Amino acid sequence: MSLPIRRFDALILGAGGAGLRAALQLAEAENRVAVVSKVFPTRSHTVAAQGGVNAALANVLPDNWHWHMYDTVKGGDYLADQDAVEYMCRAAPTLVYELEHYGVPFSRLDDGRIYQRAFGGQSQRFGGDQAARTCAAADRTGHAILHTLYQQNIRARTHFFDEYFAVDLLSDDQGTILGALALDIATGEPLLIESKTTLIATGGCGQLFRTNTNARINTGDGMAMALRAGIPLQDMEFFQFHPTGIAGKGMLITEGARGEGGFLVNADGERFMERYAPQAKDLASRDVVSRAIATEVREGRGCGPEKDHVLLRVDHLGEAVVAKRLPGIRETCRTFLHLDPAVAPIPVFPTAHYVMGGIPTNRFGEVVVPRANKAEEEIPGLFAVGECACVSVHGANRLGGNSLLDILVFGRAAANRMIEYLKENRMHRALDPASAERAAARLSRWDKTGDGETVAEVRDALKRTMETHVGVFRTEAVMREGVQELKQIRQRLDRVRLKDMSQVFNTARIEALELENLVDIAMAVMLSAAERQESRGAHSRIDYPERDDQKWLKHSLYSLQEDRVDWKPVRTKPLTVESFPPKARVY
Ligand SMILES: Cc1cc2nc3c(=O)[nH]c(=O)nc-3n(C[C@H](O)[C@H](O)[C@H](O)COP(=O)(O)OP(=O)(O)OC[C@H]3O[C@@H](n4cnc5c(N)ncnc54)[C@H](O)[C@@H]3O)c2cc1C
Repeated sequence: MSLPIRRFDALILGAGGAGLRAALQLAEAENRVAVVSKVFPTRSHTVAAQGGVNAALANVLPDNWHWHMYDTVKGGDYLADQDAVEYMCRAAPTLVYELEHYGVPFSRLDDGRIYQRAFGGQSQRFGGDQAARTCAAADRTGHAILHTLYQQNIRARTHFFDEYFAVDLLSDDQGTILGALALDIATGEPLLIESKTTLIATGGCGQLFRTNTNARINTGDGMAMALRAGIPLQDMEFFQFHPTGIAGKGMLITEGARGEGGFLVNADGERFMERYAPQAKDLASRDVVSRAIATEVREGRGCGPEKDHVLLRVDHLGEAVVAKRLPGIRETCRTFLHLDPAVAPIPVFPTAHYVMGGIPTNRFGEVVVPRANKAEEEIPGLFAVGECACVSVHGANRLGGNSLLDILVFGRAAANRMIEYLKENRMHRALDPASAERAAARLSRWDKTGDGETVAEVRDALKRTMETHVGVFRTEAVMREGVQELKQIRQRLDRVRLKDMSQVFNTARIEALELENLVDIAMAVMLSAAERQESRGAHSRIDYPERDDQKWLKHSLYSLQEDRVDWKPVRTKPLTVESFPPKARVY
């Protein structure tokens, strides 16, 4: 097999905030860096992040990185690895000031300092009064960050492969990862990109669910590549449902709307969050608010003719506040609901938003896997960062504003470790031809045209299965049924055919490859959820309503080859401070 080859020091799969922050660090250290993205970099999903990025700057209210750390551990229902959480919260102010210097146009206070808003699960003094920790550029923070990082990468001469689809990882015969096979989406031509070190930064997999806040591109490709390379996925049962998606449609209304003073009401006009979270109310952590909304609707207090949603009110804040602080939300409501939130309430319901699990890494972004009877081992040459990775700082439930922080902090940390790796691995290694052939075989599978099921039919079935069998509330029987349905969907993949390729764009083939990826990840979510017999964070089981630290304070690891879930301990020891031991989680 002879395919065109390009060689780089470092290959980064993904041009979202995680990939671009890492690329910048590597390029500034004089490495030859390639970034592959299936969409133009500034269309990566980070662009959609609204509310902001957390850092204890104390610009609005007193704050401290240690309080931030406490909130993050508590928010994650004590499943997060506390060394990584300490590292992230300590680094946060540096990373935000760095962004300011790169040119991110943050909103400002009257005295010129960065504006910070309140977000859910934030507190002063370890559970005391509400904190204001989220640094915002109006409600378009991700847009501001992504464009700035892209411009800085252009300055640093990072090489971009725009609109190339990464198909699979490449390796040598010892298992060292040496780049990836990519497909030029416009021409359909494959390209081998060989690299001394590779970073997966391909983002999340919200497209597993029918109603979600994610872009169409969030199909978990990097996670599926890792699974196929024999790397298990960690904590995939923890999928965050954001409380305030537009009802029936899914688009996000940022938590910043409640941070600015918005609140939720049921059909009786009652501010029901006061019953579920007497102190934090509407700014309790996301899993708590999502369950409260689902419960209100289930018990008949939902709004509208179908009683299937609740209302988010910001109309009392005044036109000026909505225009200044929530302009993007106003535009979204006008476009998709034909209403102005400055004068009318917004119908909302929980919607699939963010995956806390992913490719297991340590706090240096190195991909680590447990080996039988041995400590964890790194996969040589391979790193992962961002929503596709699990470091794990979010534990069982991510706090708003902590994902943008995660991608920046660990994007930089991984790049620093890759720079060290490159110093020790100066030469390109010989690729194992079998690994390139395996990757190319994925492409030829989709040369099949003719009559059969369509990608869209199988994808719809997959999304319905996920929504029905592993939603906000879960039970054993329903999830086991879900596992069986997913097995059937896997078999249906063999019957899928594309239409005559001379009449369709390469995007049809891309959608088929994405569907294969989604099917593997769906099984990781469903099976891990069925195996975890407790309720923790976003994983809420009706049949096991309590958290059980004796049995389940551990990370799940789903492996594709065995279709099995294993477990590994949580790193409860921080770097320099005392651990936060598990205790009852009330807001
Ligand atoms: C609507 C919305 C609002 C949010 N608001 C906030 C917020 O205010 N604060 C916060 O902290 N978090 C927020 N989040 C979460 C946060 O935005 C994301 O978790 C984060 O931006 C993910 O960044 P990333 O770099 O990991 O991935 P992404 O930004 O999703 O980038 C993934 C990249 O991988 C590329 N890619 C994927 N697959 C392939 C492939 N096969 N081949 C080639 N390229 C590929 C894509 O093209 C893209 O460049 C929000 C999320 C959503 C959905």
